[in-house]
Amino acid sequence: MCGFIGLIGVEKASGALSIGLQAIQHRGQDATGIGTVESGRVHLHKELGSVAGVFTAPVLVGLAGRAGIGHVRYPTVGGGSREDAQPFHTRRPGVVMAHNGNVTNLPELEEWLNSRGIRVQSQCDVEPILLVFAEALGERRPSGHTAEDVRYAVGEVFRRVRGAYSCVALLEVDGQDTLVAFRDPHGIRPGSYAYNSEGAWAAASETVAFDALGFTRVDDLPPGEVMLFRPGHAPIRLPIEKAEPRPCIFERIYFARPDSQMEEGRIYQTRWALGERLGAEWKARGLEADVVVPVPDTSRPAAQAMAEVLGLPYREGFIKNRYSGRTFIMPDATTRQAALRLKLNPIPEIFEGKRVILVDDSVVRGTTVRRLADLVRQVKPASVHLAVYSPPVRNPCYYGIDMPSRDDLVAARLSPAEWAPAFGVDSVTFLSPEGLREIIGRPVCMACFDGDYVVPVSAGEAAEIVADRAKVAG
Ligand code: SF4
Repeated sequence: MCGFIGLIGVEKASGALSIGLQAIQHRGQDATGIGTVESGRVHLHKELGSVAGVFTAPVLVGLAGRAGIGHVRYPTVGGGSREDAQPFHTRRPGVVMAHNGNVTNLPELEEWLNSRGIRVQSQCDVEPILLVFAEALGERRPSGHTAEDVRYAVGEVFRRVRGAYSCVALLEVDGQDTLVAFRDPHGIRPGSYAYNSEGAWAAASETVAFDALGFTRVDDLPPGEVMLFRPGHAPIRLPIEKAEPRPCIFERIYFARPDSQMEEGRIYQTRWALGERLGAEWKARGLEADVVVPVPDTSRPAAQAMAEVLGLPYREGFIKNRYSGRTFIMPDATTRQAALRLKLNPIPEIFEGKRVILVDDSVVRGTTVRRLADLVRQVKPASVHLAVYSPPVRNPCYYGIDMPSRDDLVAARLSPAEWAPAFGVDSVTFLSPEGLREIIGRPVCMACFDGDYVVPVSAGEAAEIVADRAKVAG
């Protein structure tokens, strides 16, 4: 999982990019990078670490220009080294590019590029996308590229690159610096665009980056199309390949910030509606409880909604250590467990003698929920009921979320009857897949729940992605 932001027409773009990147830091804490363009010159700085740590004032001063691209990275393929940090850059033609997603046919792409004498240098999957794009531009003409050339080049990316990818790029088009943005034909990974009162444009993974910069969101980037942005002009929108949009449901459930907006609206409201539905489904089971407690932070809106539906008090039962990282995006199992122990502390009076509903966003490996249940048992509740506002995760994700191996997924390993004892709770209620579909009300990717993969992945490609993921986990 990663996050990007592209800006054009902003004085000292690097400073604004660093602010926008901090707003989407939750999408990746492993590495970060900014590339800016100034009179045809590219300035690029990327490093392992967080945005605030890497982009100090002296570093930002060196990144001159009114246009740039920034990226935060959480590796799901590649070795996670500094060389794999984004953005990437080609000199001829001069293109800076960053993306969020996961390419599923990397070996095939590398073979095609090798056959044309082009070597992929890194293990980051934006590099082959960039190389395919640049090669296609070069087929049209060596320099002086037009908007139609860009449409052709993105069409070549759609034709050759499989998987999920939302991309931003900076290059000269029709003799002007141009911000280019596109999403794969199914729009699996998110992306939106926005403007400000001075005629500048932005494209980013999440709209919270726009809020931080005082930009106004216009819309989502249209899947299967390319958009070109220049300061003071209306964007150029070029359709390429129509397919059914199937954005990632997991962004809505867990990954995106609740104040971000995606296709169907504010993430907060989506999570609220999922909580209401979960409340109705929990009630239908005839279970009883005294209090609803969210597992912070993601599940708060859903837990509040569930409490309202059930007519139960909602209480903050855990105090979160704000200096600990997000456990899901820690790159290996050992640090994930240590981080969890550090992260949450239960308030005994909330739990003691009560029948408690713990509300969580999802259960992937099951280690977090087991540890939480153990923590809660120590403060002597009468009973602990786990309620999850998503269905059981039974299938790997090949499109950029860190759960590629079926062996890692507790709901795939155990039968429903084994879940409650395995998690150390008295009952487990997952939101039904039908409930999830009804609340979202539009086609989405929910392959990790129902196994219906939007972009087919062969057994060989799946094995390759799992092996790559193991490298990241070290
Ligand atoms: S498989 Fe799951 S996590 Fe992956 S893109 Fe689809 S919905 Fe999102």
